[in-house]
Amino acid sequence: MREKINSLVALQKVETEINELRTNITMTEQKRSSLNGKIEAAEDDLKTRDAQLEALRKKYRSFEAESQIKTNSVQKSQEKLASVKTNKEYQAMLKEIDELKALNSKIEEDMIVCLDEIDIAEADVVKEQKKYKAVKHQISHDSESLQNDILQAKQELDELTVEKGQLEQKIDKQFLAAFLQAKERSGGVGIAPVLNAVCQGCHLNIPPQMFNELQRGDSLKTCPHCDRLIYWPD
Ligand SMILES: [Zn+2]
Repeated sequence: MREKINSLVALQKVETEINELRTNITMTEQKRSSLNGKIEAAEDDLKTRDAQLEALRKKYRSFEAESQIKTNSVQKSQEKLASVKTNKEYQAMLKEIDELKALNSKIEEDMIVCLDEIDIAEADVVKEQKKYKAVKHQISHDSESLQNDILQAKQELDELTVEKGQLEQKIDKQFLAAFLQAKERSGGVGIAPVLNAVCQGCHLNIPPQMFNELQRGDSLKTCPHCDRLIYWPD
């Protein structure tokens, strides 16, 4: 009898270890995926900064093109000045040239502002790239180490699962059935020790009569409160 109960206790121990390992694996996988998420977020951030820099460069090029057009217009108007017949036409053309030049100065001012913005954005991208590389290096290292932990835990899990199968085969069929039933009723743990007359599954007191019988260890007992199988550890 004692041996039969001991084999159920051994089975429970293996099952508890399996459950703990499964929880660990899930938590480690979550940690790892949150680390990978951090890398992805940093990559997205870099892409956004690159796109902002590219937009500024494009803006600068369009200012350049606009300024070139205005400069050409000024040149053409100045050439036409020589062939103008009346003073009125001459004055009108001078006015047009002045206006074009004023517009061009405004564009040149905008270009200077834009160049400053490009400088700042470029420095920003360089700084963020450096930061990203350092973070990625660290995270890749951490992630790899977590992955190793996961692989190791999975291997342990495989070994324990084999051990569990072997234990189950050795256990008396009726005892195993009682264990599985108790496990299902109690939601996880099928057999619990009783210490100082207290069931360690539900932490309630076992009636004295039952406690005495339990100590004799000659039959399989069930906790009257939580329905788990109970045993008296030597
Ligand atoms: Zn109990």
